[in-house]
Amino acid sequence: MNQLILNLDKLRHNIRFLSRHCREHHLNITGIIKDPYADWKMISQMLELGFENIGISKVPDGPTTKPVFPNRPIYISLPSIHELPAIVQGFSVSFNSEMTVIEQLNRTAIAMNCPHSILLMVDTGDLREGVMPDQVVDTVRKIHQLTPRGIEFAGIGTNLGCCAGTVPNESNLGIMSQLADRIESKLDIEVNTVSVGGSVLLEWMQHKQLPGRINNIRLGESVFLGTIPTVNQVHPNLDARVVTFRSDILEIKDKRVTPPQLYGKDALGTLPRVGRQGLRKRAILNFGICDTYPFGLTPLIPGMEIVSVNSNYTLADITECHHPLKVGDFVDFTMNYQAFLQSFISPFTRVCYQEEPDKTAVL
Ligand SMILES: *Cc1c(COP(=O)(O)O)cnc(C)c1O
Repeated sequence: MNQLILNLDKLRHNIRFLSRHCREHHLNITGIIKDPYADWKMISQMLELGFENIGISKVPDGPTTKPVFPNRPIYISLPSIHELPAIVQGFSVSFNSEMTVIEQLNRTAIAMNCPHSILLMVDTGDLREGVMPDQVVDTVRKIHQLTPRGIEFAGIGTNLGCCAGTVPNESNLGIMSQLADRIESKLDIEVNTVSVGGSVLLEWMQHKQLPGRINNIRLGESVFLGTIPTVNQVHPNLDARVVTFRSDILEIKDKRVTPPQLYGKDALGTLPRVGRQGLRKRAILNFGICDTYPFGLTPLIPGMEIVSVNSNYTLADITECHHPLKVGDFVDFTMNYQAFLQSFISPFTRVCYQEEPDKTAVL
């Protein structure tokens, strides 16, 4: 079975740095893991070393086997109107933008007699979820006027650097702070949380302060990969090697690579790229798109090149590898966020903790 190798020392380093850094910016952190079945040891490190809570983006299908959270985690997606009992039961807060869903959530929370809070999402320009800024005060008023009311208004939130690639600036961050003030002055309702995400905010925070009212940041990619998405940077204080993907070699053969006379699309519906031709040494690796996002992996062995991917296999050209490789050898890869997330949620990739020194892989 493929492995997602988690180096707990490096993970702890990143959690500690981010906790300290964000505290200096008066922010608490929601650690974003997306997967309701995520590794419990990893979650507990986040909660023990300073993260306020955990954000999950999928509704678990049946009970999770993990020990329960001290507080229920946060649902960081818009709830589907068809899943509201599971949302109320499993999560303390959900992100919302539609009044019809909020009304139904309210009825559900009352019927279940279970506390639940709403974070109202605001679209500040990334064209993801959220009400428009000029609708925010009105929507909060409607939430507060629900009678009877079983849900709480927790505050407001926004996403940046996700859909439209919008980077943080004075204007989109400023809107959030002004809206918090406006809700309080116009409605006399306290705005406890003003949440922004995701890791793209770290670039801004290297140089500048965030507007005063912002007090929560949601971080995923930076915690695990040490990178700042959207601006494509490696954060200078974060470790980029928290996670490694490990698989083994199923076949090694010399094969003559020539374009077929007649050819169609490959298993994934794209036209095959022929690449280097002639007699090549090819390895078949024990993973495909059921296990991860193979194109997001970078082999740690110099000279290994991924040339084709299907549901079960990834084919690599190893002609230029100077390292002797044989069937059964373990090979390691670094990952981009897409590969990390898909390995993380795949039932065919097992999370393992790295033992130091680790001599299992070839390199
Ligand atoms: C995934 C996600 C994040 C985390 O973003 P990163 O860029 O990975 O830090 C934050 N907020 C929401 C709502 C998300 O879905």
